[in-house]
Amino acid sequence: MYEQTKLNYDYADLEPYVDKETMHVHYDKHHAAYTAKLNAAIEKYPALFEKTAEEILSNVSLIPEDIRSAVINNGGGYVNHNLFFSIMGKDKKMSVEFENVLTDAFGSVEKFKEEFENAALTQFGSGWAWLVITADSDQGTGKQLAIRKTSNQDTPLSNGEKPILCIDVWEHSYYLKYQNKRPDYVKAFWNVVNWEEVERLYKEA
Ligand code: MN
Repeated sequence: MYEQTKLNYDYADLEPYVDKETMHVHYDKHHAAYTAKLNAAIEKYPALFEKTAEEILSNVSLIPEDIRSAVINNGGGYVNHNLFFSIMGKDKKMSVEFENVLTDAFGSVEKFKEEFENAALTQFGSGWAWLVITADSDQGTGKQLAIRKTSNQDTPLSNGEKPILCIDVWEHSYYLKYQNKRPDYVKAFWNVVNWEEVERLYKEA
């Protein structure tokens, strides 16, 4: 059985940028539902539980056809939210070392943020924006970073990429506090990024 990642902060800790009520609905209801539905689908093929959900979504051709779309949607929702909730936190600043990584990749930290925000704002309808380590990174080129956006619960893992930062732009992630103002939510998100965790994911890749 897959379990939701534990929150390393309290529901109210990300206030005022992410409100407590949204955190409760998002983690206790939406993420819990993706997790339960993923488990229900995989239970038909319990051997798959030996793999992590990330491994399964990295190779979707291995998923039996009758549960494939359920696993892509709910397994995507499961792993995407695990990452999202783990890369948020309170007062977790970016190190100078990681500033340099982003500057090398995007020209400056500000340009990186602009590009990421642009992906979050131009994702039409429900989906995600991402910072990923690209698929060709292990072919002697070092770790290459790129910005991506995906629809619904699609994950960059299915394209062979490793996500290290993401923002959920489904309306359920911001509508209670920001209503239709996705740009305000995206701007506010920078205040709650756990850069220590993002950097840890970058280093372990
Ligand atoms: Mn969500």
